Amino acid sequence: MTSNRRTFAIISHPDAGKTTLTEKLLLQGGAIHLAGEVKARGQARRARSDWMKIEQQRGISVTSSVMTFEKEFETDSGRETITFNLLDTPGHEDFSEDTYRTLTAVDSAIMVIDAAKGIEPQTRKLFEVCRLRSVPIITFVNKVDREGRECFELLDEVADMLALDVSPQSWPVGMGGRFEGILDFASGAISRPEGPSKEYLGTRDENAAIPDEFAEEIELAQAGYPEFDLEAYRNGDLTPVYFGSALKNFGVSELIDAIARFAPPPRPQPAGDEQIPPTRDEVTGFIFKVQANMDPNHRDRIAFMRMVSGTFKRGMKLTPSGLGKPIAVHSPILFFAQDRELADTAEAGDIIGIPNHGTLRVGDTLSEKNQLRFTGLPNFAPEILRRVVLRDPTKTKQLRKALDDLSEEGVIQVFYPEIGAQWIVGVVGQLQLEVLISRLEAEYKVEAVLEASPFATARWLKGADAALKGFADFNRANLARDRDGDLVFMAKSPWDVSYQVEKNPELTFSATKER
Ligand code: GDP
Repeated sequence: MTSNRRTFAIISHPDAGKTTLTEKLLLQGGAIHLAGEVKARGQARRARSDWMKIEQQRGISVTSSVMTFEKEFETDSGRETITFNLLDTPGHEDFSEDTYRTLTAVDSAIMVIDAAKGIEPQTRKLFEVCRLRSVPIITFVNKVDREGRECFELLDEVADMLALDVSPQSWPVGMGGRFEGILDFASGAISRPEGPSKEYLGTRDENAAIPDEFAEEIELAQAGYPEFDLEAYRNGDLTPVYFGSALKNFGVSELIDAIARFAPPPRPQPAGDEQIPPTRDEVTGFIFKVQANMDPNHRDRIAFMRMVSGTFKRGMKLTPSGLGKPIAVHSPILFFAQDRELADTAEAGDIIGIPNHGTLRVGDTLSEKNQLRFTGLPNFAPEILRRVVLRDPTKTKQLRKALDDLSEEGVIQVFYPEIGAQWIVGVVGQLQLEVLISRLEAEYKVEAVLEASPFATARWLKGADAALKGFADFNRANLARDRDGDLVFMAKSPWDVSYQVEKNPELTFSATKER
């Protein structure tokens, strides 16, 4: 009974309409009270929502990290309820490894593109992460109620830039001022704008005539692309494309249908050489995100576990791989939109929030028997490296604790050089640095500044002991240890990396680290 879960994320560039689409998906899925709360506009994100008991008690805002909704569908085998778990990937502003890692916990993704802009940098970056893990993508071309680029051009761009086959499932009948609705290829129906707001309110013309001026274009569109192929989609080789307007409600229900019908149910997850199927009896899962308390006086955290197999029941004992002894999960958080009481059960594909005091770390496996380790949850090579300089040198201990904590949470990565006492933090996005400084001050009472570091990137080193030692003898000034004590080569430039890679074939220089 795991096949009715669809665990997915939305990937997009800021402003493409992710928030608007999220609201509409939740609205259609019977989580109405959430609409409008997804992004508390004009307010600090942290102030978002407090309607969850545990959030109020603990001051942790987890509301929008996981949004669960259900919808009933008519299928060949009768009525079926599909449970959707939508995981939030913070946009540009909070861009961090968190975003990347969330994508390791989903089975599929929706890629939202602004019809006027096409593929933008962030969309592309996130897409590449999906591709690493062959996460299948459904494309939603948003804002067709406005003047946008030519649909053919947009489809070509997706196909060329992302090296994906595209298979349009619908087509806008005009755009912007001449927008007359969306033609659904499968049914031949056109959903129509209505009233002064020109929204879609449910009016569909079955077998509608296409206005002459659009007829040729639409004929071409229907004939000129590969047909939808479920296997190619699930392998990540083909993306079905839906045109729509999240703001005006076009294409949203088609999108939900597509996720229900095509998107994969929980996939097996790699654990070394093994693939753990969702049908395994044992409860297993992995932590993909840890969120600290927003209240600096508490050290509580919520660890987000993606369930891989089994049926979780409240109070169950699970062993985190990082701890080695079991913990009882008494007050897990489940994210059902309708009824957000404490979780009683959860299935493969679901997300559970586990309150803890720092025992659970990103990348940890949790299981009943403690016999397996999920692999493939990467740390990413930092793109920005900075030296951390304390204003008050007596606070070294606090700083170390803070850096360790924050790296556990995935806010930053920390590198302790083999020589010297200049600790280095690495991030993949600038904003992480700002978050670091403000949290150091607010939560750890540590004042620090960040200075340029001589390094441009880092690579995790692996190899036989003798080879590592040989390398270390010559390059000690460029070596550091990460939070787990693993050896890292600190490179002054990308050239430096390629030079060493060539010179040391017996070592591997890895841009990601799997835990
Ligand atoms: P996010 O940054 O990707 O979450 O984007 P938002 O959902 O906040 O949308 C960014 C802006 O685009 C907002 O002003 C939205 O009202 C607007 N927007 C979103 N979807 C549509 C759409 O389908 N049509 C139009 N015209 N505007 C839209």
